[in-house]
Amino acid sequence: MTVAETAAAIDAIRRGQGDDLLILGHHYQDSAVVAHCDAVGDSLELSRIAAASKANRIVFCGVRFMAETADILVRGPRGEDLGRRVYQPAPSAGCPMADMASADALEAAWAQIAAADPDSRWVPIVYVNSTADVKAFCGRYGGSACTSGNGLRVLRRFLDQGAKILFAPDQHLCANILRTLGYPEDSHALWQRELPDGGLTPDVIRRSRVIAWSGCCPIHAGFTSEDVAAARAAAPGATLLIHPEAPSPVAAQAEMAGSTKEIIAAVEAAAPGGSYLIGTEQHLVERLTADHPGLTIRPLRPIVCEDMGKTTLDDLLTTLRDWPESRRVTVDPALVPDARACVERMLAL
Ligand code: SF4
Repeated sequence: MTVAETAAAIDAIRRGQGDDLLILGHHYQDSAVVAHCDAVGDSLELSRIAAASKANRIVFCGVRFMAETADILVRGPRGEDLGRRVYQPAPSAGCPMADMASADALEAAWAQIAAADPDSRWVPIVYVNSTADVKAFCGRYGGSACTSGNGLRVLRRFLDQGAKILFAPDQHLCANILRTLGYPEDSHALWQRELPDGGLTPDVIRRSRVIAWSGCCPIHAGFTSEDVAAARAAAPGATLLIHPEAPSPVAAQAEMAGSTKEIIAAVEAAAPGGSYLIGTEQHLVERLTADHPGLTIRPLRPIVCEDMGKTTLDDLLTTLRDWPESRRVTVDPALVPDARACVERMLAL
């Protein structure tokens, strides 16, 4: 089949299924895939659209944790199957950062933190870029999810209430939020997941307001100060917009560190003739460049998330035509109540 024939076959199926089918695509998906999506957004935005829709078949073009979050939100409160199915066209597309934190490892760290600091109120906060069982861990202990867009609000809320926070899995998002909130370096510590006891003594645990898990997005964590210097030299006067999954010392050099949604909003609000350096995934940078010919947009450094790039038009067509069970994403119903509590606590804040 040619690309045009594949695209035409996808369009025909979409027309035939009407409102019973919802195709969602993350901003980092390839533009050829995005062209067939009913909605394009960040992971949480898309999961909320899935939950609010009437569609019984939801196809999530993205990585695993995103489709899981959609499945958590389209089930009943106790994990009941309400007949709404979530599919991921490229089931091997995972998120290396989400896989850096397991519920078992977090449970073990949680027990050690509680033993070292029994008089404090610790709360887990997890980035939505986490597995369903990590969200369930968080919900079980009264914690909340957060996104790169609302993380500052979520952390501030719990810190203002006097809580101490175990944040997982992205150390850099956590460090960027704490820098913005004005917390000094010695107020937080890193739980190094490969070391016994996270490499922390009981005294360091007791002195910390926040402990961050040592996970990271291998894509955004790769940005360096050298990248910033080289890009600024090549584009003097350009405004640097960077994702807060980048290391804090690098993000601190940007005019704005913000979520994909905030980066897109800043570009859309730009006056004609503006010059921008964008520090995020390349599929989005390319689409922004194509959509805004009146601006000069360059990548801080071109970086591609291979997992996000796994979804192809052929995958999408096979999913829509055959509905293979192997591409269906089903969260263990036993995890749903706690995982849902974790996500809904964030939505209520
Ligand atoms: S860009 Fe980073 S956080 Fe997003 S899916 Fe890829 S590895 Fe995970």
